[in-house]
Amino acid sequence: MSENDHSRVDRTTLVARLKSEPLWDLAVIGGGSTGLGVAVDAALRGLKVVLLEAEDFAKGSSSRATKLLHGGVRYLAQGQLSLVREALHERAVILENAPSLARPLSFVVPAYRWWEPLTLGLGLHIYERLAGRRSLGPTRRLSRKQMLAALPQVQAERLKGGVRYWDAQFDDAQLALALARSASRLGALTLNHCRVDGFIKEGDRLTGLRCTDTETGAECEVHARCVVNATGVWVDDLRALAAGSAEGSDARLVVSQGSHVVVDRAFWPSDEALLVPRTRDGRVLFVVPWEGQVLLGTTEQPRDDRPFEPRPMPQEIDFILAEAGRYLAKPPTRADVRSAWAGLRPLVNPPKHAGGTARVSREHAVWSEPSGLVCVAGGKWTTYRAMARDVLAHCIADNRIPPGRDWRVDRSTEHLRLERDDALLRASVPGADRVIVPGLTEQRVRFAVRHEFARKVEDVLARRSRLLFVDAQAAREAAPLVARLLQEEGILQAGLEDFLDTCGGYLP
Ligand SMILES: Cc1cc2nc3c(=O)[nH]c(=O)nc-3n(C[C@H](O)[C@H](O)[C@H](O)COP(=O)(O)OP(=O)(O)OC[C@H]3O[C@@H](n4cnc5c(N)ncnc54)[C@H](O)[C@@H]3O)c2cc1C
Repeated sequence: MSENDHSRVDRTTLVARLKSEPLWDLAVIGGGSTGLGVAVDAALRGLKVVLLEAEDFAKGSSSRATKLLHGGVRYLAQGQLSLVREALHERAVILENAPSLARPLSFVVPAYRWWEPLTLGLGLHIYERLAGRRSLGPTRRLSRKQMLAALPQVQAERLKGGVRYWDAQFDDAQLALALARSASRLGALTLNHCRVDGFIKEGDRLTGLRCTDTETGAECEVHARCVVNATGVWVDDLRALAAGSAEGSDARLVVSQGSHVVVDRAFWPSDEALLVPRTRDGRVLFVVPWEGQVLLGTTEQPRDDRPFEPRPMPQEIDFILAEAGRYLAKPPTRADVRSAWAGLRPLVNPPKHAGGTARVSREHAVWSEPSGLVCVAGGKWTTYRAMARDVLAHCIADNRIPPGRDWRVDRSTEHLRLERDDALLRASVPGADRVIVPGLTEQRVRFAVRHEFARKVEDVLARRSRLLFVDAQAAREAAPLVARLLQEEGILQAGLEDFLDTCGGYLP
């Protein structure tokens, strides 16, 4: 494959197309899992789609997840079996569509009271049965001896045994980028670093939006039959903007922060993950091998604000280290933390008005504002496709957009068939033999710019490579060279100073 391949990103061309298109079927605001899922689904139906992202694709919650594709054991306990079944189905589809970004992962759950292997085992057997033929592996009760043999580093004192079950792990930011590229290949215009800051109305009805290219400051008007607000924890801000009223009067979202800590693999050298079934605040905590290190998390901390770069609170880091430390043979300390980061959960409130166009289903909700702005919020990464389907069904049911072609016929095109092409494409980009820091080559950086929409040092080091999330000090050291490469690729404002500032927040 030549480097002149159609997937090469040329921002000038993208911006020119944004300005020249007189009417889009669908304009999506927000380039996280939700918005990107909607864009892919709509593009598959043959609709004319534009997606605008204020910062970078997956800059929000969608790069800050625990990175598990799961059915939600919580819903099992509540008896909501159809929810669990649907998420387990989605888990299987993502594994099939993106095999280089997602993989099955076994989890062990230690038990320190005699009855726990029985109760945990029963629940997790039901979980496995709900996956049906899409089960990823058998659920097994483990004796104390088997636990210690499988996981010598687990806390042995009072250990009674445990349970092993299977779920899956994925790379959230990379899957988001694969979706952005898939949408783009299917004809959608996906543009990052372009903020929506106003709406166009005819009477009370919304007919489009105003946006600003944050690189140049250029403003642009976009006209669309239907506008979808998929901005995660910022959904209420965009609602207020569309209503032209002060925000906060009718908040639909509750925001809760979840933090993670990454420590050296030596603290958990196993290939299996550990699920701590009950922390001191009654939640679960994961210890997961990730990117050659170990990911520990998460927390649940209510927040009133919603910064684009939330920081873990010191007490969250202490809590994670203390809780994980109870289960690991060697408890990690603050000095062992390589990176600590936080994400904001967009939890949706039940609607105040149940009638009208409001449709609430599952963990997420889709509804229309009086202006016609379609909002989607809540849910989880695992079910992004189900959320997208509901958004499109909502828009079509309201006669806002044509149904498009039956995309199920084209299901095969949905496969993220980037992997084979990427290997060829990468080979055509120079710099494979020039290592910036272990795990990051000059070729990776140039590829990020040429084919993955990267515009800033942070775009490269946080989401194309995951170095910032894995080892913030290494990311800081790599940053000046990455900035120079971006400059060579024609990007003059690569945001080096901002990135060095951001790094500080990842080092406790
Ligand atoms: C700590 C934590 C752990 C999680 N773990 C898991 C997990 O293991 N598995 C799982 O399935 N799910 C998990 N989730 C849930 C999952 O991450 C989220 O549900 C999902 O990422 C939400 O995606 P989103 O697209 O709705 O929001 P976001 O990813 O936040 O996307 C919204 C986007 O809108 C953009 N935006 C905002 N304002 C504007 C504007 N004016 N103009 C243009 N763009 C704008 C933002 O920049 C942002 O990129 C977790 C969440 C958290 C916080």
